[in-house]
Amino acid sequence: MAELNELFKSADFKSEKHVPVIEVSGSASKGESLNVAIAVGKEIAHPNTTEHHIQWIRLYFLPEGGKFPYELGSFEFGSHGASAEGPNTSTVYSDAKVTISFKTEKSGTLLASSYCNIHGLWQSSKTLSIA
Ligand code: FE
Repeated sequence: MAELNELFKSADFKSEKHVPVIEVSGSASKGESLNVAIAVGKEIAHPNTTEHHIQWIRLYFLPEGGKFPYELGSFEFGSHGASAEGPNTSTVYSDAKVTISFKTEKSGTLLASSYCNIHGLWQSSKTLSIA
């Protein structure tokens, strides 16, 4: 038997194309909106085909001293080349990258997860310092 949390893989994004990369821009000041970009395949491109693609990215925030994370957003990537003519015929492909805005009064940890339809669950985290 396996537990879900044991199935999340992580690695250095510079050598592993599946890891969600978290980048924060904006002021990171108390109560002011900041932008968080999450992308899979930042350093090494991940395939994006009907047969092999990133299906979703989710982002959570765990405030310092918090017991439970908050889900900031959940993003499904729905187009991977399929059309009525068959796989990889539509020329329409959702990129596995999103940007979300949010605000907080506390520092904490941003936690991202992503899912590749054939290579499973991946995760990464980044410290968020709020001045
Ligand atoms: Fe993959």
